[in-house]
Amino acid sequence: MRMTRLHAPTLKDDPKDAEVISHRLLVRGGYIRKLSAGIYDYLPLALRVLRKIQGIIREELDDAGAQEVLLPAVQPSEIWEESGRWALYGPELMRMKDRKGGDFCLGPTHEEVIVDLVRRDVRSWRALPINLYQIQTKFRDEIRPRAGLMRGREFIMKDAYSFDIDDAAANASYDEMFSAYGRIFSRCGLDFRPVEADTGAIGGSRSHEFQVLADSGEDAIVSCTNCGYAANIEQAELSKPEAVVGFTGTLERVETPKVRTIDEVSQFLTKPAQAFIKTLIVQADSDVHAVLIRGDHELNPIKLAKLLGVSEVVLAEDDTVKRVTGAPVGFAGPIGLDGVSSIIADYAVQGMSDAVVGGNAIDSHFTGVGESRDFEVDRFADLRMAMGGDDCPRCAGTLQDYRGIEVGHVFFLGTKYSEAMRCNYLDESGRERPMVMGCYGIGVSRIMAAAIEQNHDDSGIIWPTAIAPFHVTLLPLQMNKDAVVDAAQSLYQGLKDAGVEVLLDDRKERAGSKFKDAELIGIPLRIAIGSRGLDNGIVEAKVRGHDAVHELPLASVTDWVLEQLN
Ligand code: ATP
Ligand code: MG
Repeated sequence: MRMTRLHAPTLKDDPKDAEVISHRLLVRGGYIRKLSAGIYDYLPLALRVLRKIQGIIREELDDAGAQEVLLPAVQPSEIWEESGRWALYGPELMRMKDRKGGDFCLGPTHEEVIVDLVRRDVRSWRALPINLYQIQTKFRDEIRPRAGLMRGREFIMKDAYSFDIDDAAANASYDEMFSAYGRIFSRCGLDFRPVEADTGAIGGSRSHEFQVLADSGEDAIVSCTNCGYAANIEQAELSKPEAVVGFTGTLERVETPKVRTIDEVSQFLTKPAQAFIKTLIVQADSDVHAVLIRGDHELNPIKLAKLLGVSEVVLAEDDTVKRVTGAPVGFAGPIGLDGVSSIIADYAVQGMSDAVVGGNAIDSHFTGVGESRDFEVDRFADLRMAMGGDDCPRCAGTLQDYRGIEVGHVFFLGTKYSEAMRCNYLDESGRERPMVMGCYGIGVSRIMAAAIEQNHDDSGIIWPTAIAPFHVTLLPLQMNKDAVVDAAQSLYQGLKDAGVEVLLDDRKERAGSKFKDAELIGIPLRIAIGSRGLDNGIVEAKVRGHDAVHELPLASVTDWVLEQLN
C-alpha cells in the first residue's frame, strides 16, 4: 500500500474528548473518527487491524469445532418476550418500531436469536454438541460510553453459543472455549489473565473473564503471587481470618462534631481506618439490615445479595436510616441498634477490639468497642471486596491487585434460555430435554484499544506484529532524489513478493514528519532510505519500540524483515 493512496489522516493534536491513550492514538493515527457518542468510523488502518484480530479468532474457533454464522442485527421483540428479557433489559436495549408498529431492537447480544435458530432444526441428541459463532456489530445504549473503542455504544463483538446434551458435555464445551480464548489472546500479543467472574445472584454456574492488564482498565482484579488463582475483586472469595481473642479498650461515647466519613472521623480521633467498623444500612427486598465492614474494607453488594438470597441490595434511603438508627446518615452503629431485621458482619469484624463505631446519635461515636462484648452480630460471612495484600483463598500466597480491561467472557448458561424458549432435544430414549448452553463473547474492537493501552510510548502505538495493520513501513526520505525513489520502489516490490505487508510512505513530506507519522501509526518494522546511506548501499532499519538502528545493505533488507517477522 502506498501512503499517498491510503486514507490515514494523522493529527498533531490530541482530540479534546479523549481520556485514555488508546483513544488519543487511534484518532491521531488516523484509525478512527467519531460519528456520535460511542459510535465510530473505522478507517482503513483500523479495519486492517480488526481483520487481523478476526482472522486469529476465526482460526482458533474453527479449530475448536465452532462454526461461523451471521445473524441479523435487527431482532423482533417476540423472542425477547419469550426469554423474558424484553421487560428486564433496561434502556441499554435500543428499541424501535417498524412501519407496521411492530417492536424491534438492535441486537446487544444474540441468545434469543441463536436459541430460536437452533430449536427449529436441531432435534436429536445425535446433532449435539453444536457451537455457533458470529463476528458482528452490536449495539448497546451504554449509559456512559467512554474511552473511545473501549466502551462504545456500537462495537464489534464475536459471540459464540454452545448447545449440549447435559452439564458434563456443556462443561467440556466450556473448557474447549476457555483454552481457545487463551490461544486467541496470546496470539494477539496481549498480556492477560483469565479471572473467575461473578455469575449473578443465583450463582452455581461458571464464568471467567479474560482481562488485559492495564492501568486504565475499568475492572479491578486480584491474582495470587504464588498459585494461578485470579479473580475479579467482586468475585474473589476470601478465607475466614483467625478470630482474635481478648479485648483491649473500654467502651466510651465521644463527641465527633461535624465529622462523619471514615476519613474525617479517622483524622479527628487519630485512629487508622482499620480500627473502624462501618455500619451500612441496606435494603434487601422489604427487609432492612445492618451490615458491618471494617473501615478500610469495601462492601461487596454481590456477595451480600447472594447471602440474603435476593437479586439486589441497595443502600437504604436517608429516612429509613433515620428511622432505624435514630440519627442522620453517617452515625449508624451496631450498639443498641434494634430497628433492623438483622446485623450481618464481614469476617474481618469478628473479634475486633478497641474499635470505633457510629453512636446512633448526631455527632457521636463509640470508641474502645469490642465485638461480641458490646454488641451482637447475627451472622458472619465473607462480604467484602478482595484487595491487594489479602491472603489467597487457594494457597498460602498473597493477592496482588491489578486493573484490567475485559476483552472476553465465557459463561456457563445452563438451561436458562433453552427452558424459557423451549429449545429441546430428544435424548436416546426419546425423552424431551432442554439443551445445556454456554455463551462466549470477545470484544473485537475493544481488543484493538486494549492492545494499544498495553503497547505504546510517548510517540505512538507499538503494535504487536500479529495484529499490526502492516508489517513494515518504508520511508524514502528524499522524494526528489531518483536513486532514493527507485531503491524504495524496488524494496517495496521485493518485500511484497516475499509476502510481507508493506506501507510505502511515498508522500512528498519532510523526513521528520515521515518519522513522526511512522512512530504514531506504530508499524513494527521501519526501513528509512536516505540518499547519504544509499551512496554506500546502506539503509537504516529499526524495530518500533526499540532504540537500536541497524545499518543494512540494500540486498539484505528482505531477509532481515522476514527474520524479524518470524
Ligand atoms: P462490561 O462489564 O464491560 O459491560 P459485559 O459483561 O456487558 O461487559 P458481555 O456481554 O460479556 O460484556 O460482552 C462480551 C464482550 O464484549 C466483553 O467481554 C467486552 O470485551 C465486549 N464489550 C461489552 N460491552 C462493550 C462495549 N460497550 N464496547 C466495546 N466492547 C464491549
Ligand atoms: Mg455491559
